[in-house]
Amino acid sequence: MRPLHARNGSGTGTAVKSCILCGRCLEVCPLVSATGREELSPKAKHTLARMLREGQAQLEGRRVADLAGLCLACGRCEKACPQGLCAPDAVAELREAHPDLSQWLWKQWIEKGGALWPALAWLSRRLPDSGEQPSPRYDAFKTMGSGPSVAPFLKVSRFVDAGIGREAVIFPGCTARRLYPAWTRRAKELLAGLGLRVGNRMPSWACCGCTLGHAGCTEAQREAQLANVKAWRKAGRPLVVTFCATCRCGLRSYPDADLGWEEGEGEQWREAVISLAGPMAAVEIEHVSEPPPAVYYHKPCHGSGQAGSGADEALLRRALGERYAGATGDVCCGMGGIMQLGAPELSRQVADTLWTRLDPPAGSLVLTGCSGCVLQLKATAPVGVAVGHWLETFAASAG
Ligand code: SF4
Ligand code: SF4
Repeated sequence: MRPLHARNGSGTGTAVKSCILCGRCLEVCPLVSATGREELSPKAKHTLARMLREGQAQLEGRRVADLAGLCLACGRCEKACPQGLCAPDAVAELREAHPDLSQWLWKQWIEKGGALWPALAWLSRRLPDSGEQPSPRYDAFKTMGSGPSVAPFLKVSRFVDAGIGREAVIFPGCTARRLYPAWTRRAKELLAGLGLRVGNRMPSWACCGCTLGHAGCTEAQREAQLANVKAWRKAGRPLVVTFCATCRCGLRSYPDADLGWEEGEGEQWREAVISLAGPMAAVEIEHVSEPPPAVYYHKPCHGSGQAGSGADEALLRRALGERYAGATGDVCCGMGGIMQLGAPELSRQVADTLWTRLDPPAGSLVLTGCSGCVLQLKATAPVGVAVGHWLETFAASAG
């Protein structure tokens, strides 16, 4: 299966297939279901891209940038479209052709975030509220850098050799590296228990490039991809273990880009990128303390449907038994990367749709396996509902 967001020429590039206006994408687009606004639909985006491409429409650059900013890059439309058209690709190309401030800011955020993220988090927690309405723009920032709010209640009681017997490196992704380093420490302990050899030195990873691509920063995306492939080669081509669905999706799409691969090396890379939950499928798990009364799992949009994408949920379902309250349904959290900066109120509307449908009781816990989803869910969760990465539920002791 072609991975999501492989540039397929559905935007302003060479058109391979056209939109046939069937409307199937309207049924799956979280922006349409949260707002009822058909002008935000994938169909409308492809129509806009085609009209601009064919010179049928002349839009002022700022207006194009505004429209192009209104996509969560969840990839649901591509899976529903009989033509295989991918709105994030079309939108990324529009953004690339019409860069704006949000795009620039997102690029700075991703590339220089080591200094910027904690500063933004610190600053936004100290900003006075501007009025009666909470500002969704700052909601996501306020949760950044806040420590894990989940007290561990699970422990691996018996590791089962995953049988891989290889060197492994962790790809933590930008959020874990900058805001939640404890996730990486926990992942390292779990991998050691599984018998994988994880060295003390982390390769010099860059961003996975996924959100940079969605923002239309294709040059920066390519630079990040090249840096990561170089780091992997230097490390001896080990397994690359991720615990972020967006990173995994982004990394696994590398072989579709021209990154100077040697013969067979692209497929070797794709096979090397695995989810942490995959090799944990057979471990035995015990409860070290009482779990919350209801624990939900939020399924990330990125990479859903790809092989191995269900491993996180399967692990939790098995570990939690009757405390597992189910998945949050097939509903996007509304994180949307660059859209957080350009249209935070729409992002918030999508999140509110999720929480209204789920209606979790106070005291419940929502876990996920995507760093971006953690940020968005933490920022929008109803009072009394905790949110975290599933890694936070495992106690530190590996044995
Ligand atoms: S990627 Fe998601 S938000 Fe964007 S147009 Fe497609 S379904 Fe809608
Ligand atoms: S599903 Fe594809 S072909 Fe149908 S309206 Fe949407 S973009 Fe067009």
